Amino acid sequence: KANGRNRRSFFEPGMEHHVQSKDRMSRDLRLALKNDELDLAYQPQTDTSAKRIVSVEALARWTKEDGTVVAPSQFIPVAEETGLINDLGIWVLNKACAKAHEWPGIVVSVNVSPNQFKHPRFVEKVMAILAANNLPPQRLEIEVTETVFAGRNDSVLKALRRLKNLGVKVALDDFGSGYSSLSYLRRFPFDTLKIDRDFVSDMNGNAEAEAILVSIIQLGKALGMTIVAEGIETIEQIRFLQAHDCHRMQGYFISKPLHEAALTQFLDDFNKDSGGNGFGTDLSF
Ligand code: C2E
Ligand code: MG
Ligand code: MG
Ligand code: MG
Repeated sequence: KANGRNRRSFFEPGMEHHVQSKDRMSRDLRLALKNDELDLAYQPQTDTSAKRIVSVEALARWTKEDGTVVAPSQFIPVAEETGLINDLGIWVLNKACAKAHEWPGIVVSVNVSPNQFKHPRFVEKVMAILAANNLPPQRLEIEVTETVFAGRNDSVLKALRRLKNLGVKVALDDFGSGYSSLSYLRRFPFDTLKIDRDFVSDMNGNAEAEAILVSIIQLGKALGMTIVAEGIETIEQIRFLQAHDCHRMQGYFISKPLHEAALTQFLDDFNKDSGGNGFGTDLSF
């Protein structure tokens, strides 16, 4: 065995390293799931006024025993390739739905990978999780990216439709980051359109980027969707989005993703004093 390994690495050292690290990560991730090393962070979304938090997006977090943090952009693709995304995704849904009770009235958004929809009983599992946690379907939003439409997708569309009919909200995430985003808007009646953060970060005084952003907001509204702008990092971006009546806003300027206790505190402070500015007295707008 050791010989074989040496031989492989002698011929293709780069590939060997790649394969090994992916294998190792997949093994570690499986254990992490079992040993409770995974966690969720929740990023708040405000309404247009930016005075109320109406929703939070659950984001997977992995801190290894030795303190190393692995980013979702690293471990989610590995989980997708190895099929572990099904177990991981169920874990995320369970955790998010259980925690939702601590934040009454707040919608909890969960990212779902295309592979999860290929699982024949995915919709049943979601419904079972909602029932087990006694959470109304309206309090859960499922986020999918355009990749969900790749390949043969009849079963995916069917699953999305069933979820929507059951009252679960369905969002199209990272809108505009793919190749032919517009066509997807005709294939499924999404409740929510999340504009990719690249459009938001590009705007700052850039007339073309601003025109695109405004057009996406108008298009989404014409189709009856709730529009969310992602990646808000400045007060100018908030003002611009308010001027164009974007429904919801999410980004570091409002809050980074927070662990559950910190979110509870944040919601308390932010939503408590509805007459005041959610950001406190330091920032007025
Ligand atoms: P996403 O669903 O588009 O989530 C938004 C990402 O943008 C998050 O990164 C968030 O931390 C980051 N972000 C939010 N506001 C800002 C901002 O103002 N500036 C900048 N630069 N970034 C901002 P994160 O948590 O690293 O997640 C990355 C991606 O990993 C997510 O993108 C999502 O596609 C995927 N992901 C995370 N958790 C899960 C999960 O539980 N299941 C699945 N299937 N995918 C997940
Ligand atoms: Mg998302
Ligand atoms: Mg996104
Ligand atoms: Mg993204």
